Amino acid sequence: QSQELSQVRIDYHAALQELQQHGTRMVCTGKMHTDRVCRFDYLCYSTEAEEFVFFHSNASVMLPNLGPRRFQPALLDLSSVEDHNTQYFNFLELPAAALKFMPKPVFVPDVALILNRFNPDNLMHVFHDDLLPIFYTMGQYSDLDEEARLVFMEGWSEGPHFQLYRQLSSKQPLLKEQLRNFGKLLCFTKSYVGLSKMTTWYQYGFVQPQGPKANILVSGNEIRQFSAFLAEKLNVTVGEPVEKMDEYIVVFSRSLNRLILNEAELILALAQEFQMKVVTVSLEEQSFADIIRALSRASMLVSMHGAQLVCSLFLPRGAAVVELFPYGVNPEHYAPYRTLTSLPGMDLQYVAWRNTKEENSVTFPERAWDQGGIAHLEKEEQERILKSKEVPRHLCCRNPEWLFRIYQDTQVDIASLLDALRQGLTSKPGPKKARPSSTVHPGRVREPKCQTSVQATNEAKLTVSWQIPWNLKYLKVREVKYEVWIQEQGENTYMPYILPHQNYTFSENIKPFTTYLVWVRCIFNKTLLGPFADVLMCKT
Ligand code: UDP
Repeated sequence: QSQELSQVRIDYHAALQELQQHGTRMVCTGKMHTDRVCRFDYLCYSTEAEEFVFFHSNASVMLPNLGPRRFQPALLDLSSVEDHNTQYFNFLELPAAALKFMPKPVFVPDVALILNRFNPDNLMHVFHDDLLPIFYTMGQYSDLDEEARLVFMEGWSEGPHFQLYRQLSSKQPLLKEQLRNFGKLLCFTKSYVGLSKMTTWYQYGFVQPQGPKANILVSGNEIRQFSAFLAEKLNVTVGEPVEKMDEYIVVFSRSLNRLILNEAELILALAQEFQMKVVTVSLEEQSFADIIRALSRASMLVSMHGAQLVCSLFLPRGAAVVELFPYGVNPEHYAPYRTLTSLPGMDLQYVAWRNTKEENSVTFPERAWDQGGIAHLEKEEQERILKSKEVPRHLCCRNPEWLFRIYQDTQVDIASLLDALRQGLTSKPGPKKARPSSTVHPGRVREPKCQTSVQATNEAKLTVSWQIPWNLKYLKVREVKYEVWIQEQGENTYMPYILPHQNYTFSENIKPFTTYLVWVRCIFNKTLLGPFADVLMCKT
């Protein structure tokens, strides 16, 4: 490892002079610590103190310059999990003159992206918190290219999915524990610190019970571009059409815990019901590339709730995800995979099935607490949990009732599962050949105008007309409609109208000698809303 950095040629003397004279420079984006990513020249790290160091000189820059607010609570989140108090980033400050008394700095010549992985042992966390955010943070800054160096500061070892992280750049990612091999004071010539949260869709329940993020900003398009990138890096060819006779279902099984006890029976039933082959995969038995290969052409993925379901992002459009929940676990309350499948443009079907028969469940009260054991709890608490029919909503991460229920094994009741599938699947699941539906929104309608006339003391007319949005003439749109809102000035309600043409004369509810405010917008295919044109003031 220590060889690796020194191989890269860097003018040590020039770098040292630059650091001594100019100090550290930082310019960030983002108003809050939760949406901030910072770019640094000469950010240093003391492996002895385990602290980042900002060197002040006459030429150093610190934007935002927050003063003591930098500690309230931090400069930024080092992982993509929002405002988690174990994931904050900050630096210590020193005058550049102090360098004279410090160990000789070792310079990292690569452009570095410095971040915390949130939970590299768990595949959902690997994809949702790390891989996707790293991929799109790199997409945001042109010098974070395939030569970039990822630096993981959370302090964990490589973990079981390190090969996935290695696909994001051509350089071996560095772990915190490796930094001390390079020296006592490490200086990153150019680095970015923090991760974009733009692609995350789920919050894990640290401050309120888990659920979809309030303001999801990612669509299936970005997810799919990422999965295509990763598949290609792993040498998996995806995307050839699947012949009808070759359609198949994937059962993603867990072999250590949360088992499907009658997997063979389930496989036979699925094959029979859908007249398709059924294959099983598991993280224990297949390589990741093999799993992606299987999923990328599958018609359906069936699995117990669990992190392996994040692999749904490798399914083709039109496929179905069937998530099985153990006894006592309400699917509505644990929706990371349902939320993934229902991102706009993901084009995946989703069905949840829940074991409602306690006798079909096998519990493990004697196991360790983190595998759902409850033997360590007070007798009454154990009895309450055993009697409870559903885990009430709770915060992350150590709720014993939740862990007890989620780590049950399940005998899947085939009849009730097939019922759920017959009801839940809206169309025959399978790779869709049809092109994805358009997501192009209308522009503003142009030249909106109103004309008015008074017929009698209690009768008036209001004609509104406009031109089509500029982009419409280049598009093939199945259905173009317009929405007009009319509000009498001073009132706080309005009347909405959906209209098929570019003008309309309103006479009902239109009063003489009154001012109306009128807004017009275009709508493609019922759901793609355009912006409103500037408001019209229409006096009758
Ligand atoms: N895992 C697995 N097989 C098993 C149990 C777990 O592959 O039998 C994987 C699982 O997909 C996840 C990691 O091990 O990536 C941790 O599993 P855990 O049960 O802690 O988390 P969960 O799946 O509930 O998110």
